[in-house]
Amino acid sequence: MITLTADQKFDLKKIIKHHGFKNQIKKAIEELDELKVELIDYLEYDYFSDKTGAIKRITEEVPDVINMLFQLILIFDNQEEVQGGLDFKIIRTLERMKR
Ligand SMILES: [Mg+2]
Repeated sequence: MITLTADQKFDLKKIIKHHGFKNQIKKAIEELDELKVELIDYLEYDYFSDKTGAIKRITEEVPDVINMLFQLILIFDNQEEVQGGLDFKIIRTLERMKR
């Protein structure tokens, strides 16, 4: 679905090296918080109110989070484990839905 090009991977490694991995982990926490705030905002909107603004802000925050998730994978060098965990958790969720 969403993948990194070789150039983007190179650029993210450059960003991690420039800022330092600990700062990028802190940045990941910040970005997750920002998305969380927007998602809560979206849910708290009244049923009849215009959600366009909330959706726009979510759409801005999702790439921030994806960017940081990719950086975390590079920092912890765990792409295969993350992919495996993702595959497993989707299947597990589908299995639980059958119960
Ligand atoms: Mg953000």
